[in-house]
Amino acid sequence: MSRRELVVLGTASQVPTRTRNHNGYVLFWDDEAVLFDPGEGTQRQMLRAGVSATDLTRIAITHLHGDHSLGLAGVVQRISLDGVPHTIPVSFPASGAAWVDHLIDATSYHHRADLELQPLAEDGVVWPVRPEQGFTLRAERLEHGVEAFGYRLDEPDGRRMVPALLAAAGVAGPAIGVLQREGRVVTGDGRTVRLEDVSARRRGQSFAFVMDTRLCDAVFSLARGVDLLVIESTFLDRDRELAHAFGHLTALQAATVAAECGVRSLVLTHFSQRYQDAGEFWAEARTVFDGELTVAEDLDRVQVPPRVH
Ligand SMILES: [Zn+2]
Repeated sequence: MSRRELVVLGTASQVPTRTRNHNGYVLFWDDEAVLFDPGEGTQRQMLRAGVSATDLTRIAITHLHGDHSLGLAGVVQRISLDGVPHTIPVSFPASGAAWVDHLIDATSYHHRADLELQPLAEDGVVWPVRPEQGFTLRAERLEHGVEAFGYRLDEPDGRRMVPALLAAAGVAGPAIGVLQREGRVVTGDGRTVRLEDVSARRRGQSFAFVMDTRLCDAVFSLARGVDLLVIESTFLDRDRELAHAFGHLTALQAATVAAECGVRSLVLTHFSQRYQDAGEFWAEARTVFDGELTVAEDLDRVQVPPRVH
């Protein structure tokens, strides 16, 4: 079965702590691996998590604060050093382009990385869309102190074969392959069977990545109905005023979004160093969200939940 898994590299907002690295997340999705928000120390966390520079097929940055981007310098130099042969698109808010340029050219090294820079100026699909990647990536503007975009990944709907319908139609063996490739097949007795006669719609899976933002419409549209949501919960709700003032969410707000949007699996992360007990985030989120819940720790692995047909 194909791999659809989130690898958490770091979970700290603003500054690393003794137990939490700066942010960093890799989403493995079949043959793709998207690195989101590489904070400081990402290169080493990748090593610890068993993720190589060559694995990466895309880098997506929500905004140009250090806890979401300082690690780009090291990761890009590592991509160069390892001679990664493929092109790696790098998306980021357009207003952060100068900082991205600095990070990519932060020290002297052999520039061999083949990066395709994609400054985002408005909401929409992030290009290029390659058919083989099996999903579209969309960006939507969030509300934070600097320009920030959240991301959403959607797999197109497909078809799944229904064995009982195949049997009833008399389609078996190599004919099934023909049906899948060509959309129709002619049976031995001369009947034409169409794909839609013997298959059912298979809903595509989806993932959303919502980092630094106060509550806004985009948070909901990014999270709507996704299988897996990674969302910042910098604060606990007793500090809701602080969260709003600094452009952040509380655990209660993040979990409420997940509950209202029908999210299946929720990953809270990006915690302020002011809190010692991660259990408080879990307890707060649990009051409103009853799906699969993870209060992320560094190096956690979270599976995209199995398909529901
Ligand atoms: Zn942050």
